[in-house]
Formats: sequence, C-alpha cells, structure tokens
Amino acid sequence: MKILKGKTAIITGATRGIGRGIAKTFADHGANVLFTFSSSSDLAKEIENELSNNDVVVKGFKSDASNYQDCQNLVDQITKEFPVIDILINNAGITRDNLLMRMQEEDFDKVIEINLKSVFNMTKAIQRTMLKQRFGSIINMSSVVGVKGNAGQSNYAASKAGIIGFSKSIALELGSRNIRCNVIAPGFIETEMTEVLDEKVVQEWRDSIPLKRGGKPSDIADTCVWLASDMSSYVTGQTIHVNGGLLT
Ligand code: NAD
Repeated sequence: MKILKGKTAIITGATRGIGRGIAKTFADHGANVLFTFSSSSDLAKEIENELSNNDVVVKGFKSDASNYQDCQNLVDQITKEFPVIDILINNAGITRDNLLMRMQEEDFDKVIEINLKSVFNMTKAIQRTMLKQRFGSIINMSSVVGVKGNAGQSNYAASKAGIIGFSKSIALELGSRNIRCNVIAPGFIETEMTEVLDEKVVQEWRDSIPLKRGGKPSDIADTCVWLASDMSSYVTGQTIHVNGGLLT
C-alpha cells in the first residue's frame, strides 16, 4: 500500500545512512522526495536514478542546512516547481565527540549549527508555505543521547535536546493551522557511520539493547512514514523513541 501517494517531502542530508533510508522508503510509498546534500553530487545523482520512477520525482539539491540563506534559497527554488510541501524531515546531523576537557569551541559551535540551527533554518523557511496551505508534518531527528546524555557528547546531546524543546514550541505555535511537529529519537542505528567502529564494541551495544540488535535505517524510515501520513493526524509535539527498548 502506498501510504504517502501524492505527497511531497523535503529531507535534509539524504545521501547516506538514515536519510537515504527515509528517501527510499518514502519513494516506495509514493512520495516525491526532494533531498539535500552537502558535498557528494555523484551520490545524489545515483540516488535520483535509483529511486525515481514513473510515479515519483526524486531530486537532490546541494544545500548547507546550517546556512540560513541557503535554506531560504532552497525552499524558494523548490516551491517554484512544487508549490505544495506536505512533509519536512530535518535529518542532517554530525558528531564531533570529545570530553569537555578536550572539546574545542569550534567543535561545540559546529555541532550546534549543523544539528540544531539547521532545524530552525529549515522550519523557518518552510513555515510560510505550510501556513498558506494549512497543513504540514515536520519531523525532526533527535537522538537517545538528547534525552539521556552521554559522556563525550555534550555538544551533540545539547543539540539533540534543543531539537526537542524547539519542536514542542513549534507544535504549540502552529497546531491551530494543522501543522504538526514531532521528533524521532533513534537509539543505536547501524549505518555507514557505525561500520567503521570496532565489531566488538558494536556487539556490546547490541547485547545491551532489549531487542538484541542495532536499529536499521528502515526502522526510522517506517516511523517517519507514520508521522508523515494522515495515520498520525492527531499526534503533535511528541518525541517517538525508536531504540529497541534501550531507555526502558
Ligand atoms: P550520517 O552521517 O550517515 O548522515 C548524515 C547526513 O547529513 C549525511 O548525508 C551528511 O552529508 C548530511 N549533512 C551533514 N552536514 C550537513 C549540512 N550542513 N547540510 C546538509 N546535510 C548535511 O548519519 P546518520 O547515522 O544517518 O544520522 C542521521 C541523523 O540521525 C543525524 O541527525 C543523527 O544525529 C541522527 N541519529 C543517528 C543515530 C545513529 O545511530 N546512526 C542515532 C541517533 C540519531
């Protein structure tokens, strides 16, 4: 069943990992997918070719989510061709891990800019379109680390906790216009990013999770489909934990 048939989604940072998984699942469910990338044009082309079909448009845009003007320009460009945007997924994110003692100011600022300010930039840019059409679903990617904290990730945890506060506020501001804003807090999701880690460390993580496995990008993508679709039309301001029971 194509749950998102006829809908159009913008996804930030979708050339790999969770974002790429969301792009694929959304295209499979009939949504047009307009995704951003920061550098890898070849990979973006590959995704366009792989996911486009007769029913959906899949198109990549080079855009830095941490740059306010880039986000304004992106939405201006997209809405000329796609005047209705049903879904925004703020997925782009980075880590710059270190203990506070060793963390440089730049490591803190960069993580806040790319993980948190990007969510403000894109939400601000899409707001006018969604207000005009009087509907929209905004989905922001936080993390279990934003809820629980993690030694060595104070910058990342602050950015991901900030996303939760921001999203609840937007849910309150825009609810009367039928614009919903929710958060997904993934646990440990196995992506290209985690492939480089020591297998023993990864296995220890898996063993510590009640469901005894790392998450897959599709686990997050399926949750996005629900939050993006009309099946969740009475859900806003919430953080959905997709972590195999890690916080239980
Ligand atoms: P990833 O590094 O594989 O993908 C992140 C994507 O964001 C990449 O495509 C990258 O190019 C893009 N990106 C980075 N900076 C950007 C910028 N300035 N502008 C536009 N795009 C930019 O990571 P992932 O594991 O797929 O994570 C995706 C999201 O999920 C992130 O927000 C991450 O914090 C969050 N998350 C991941 C996990 C996990 O275990 N993998 C757990 C919790 C939360």
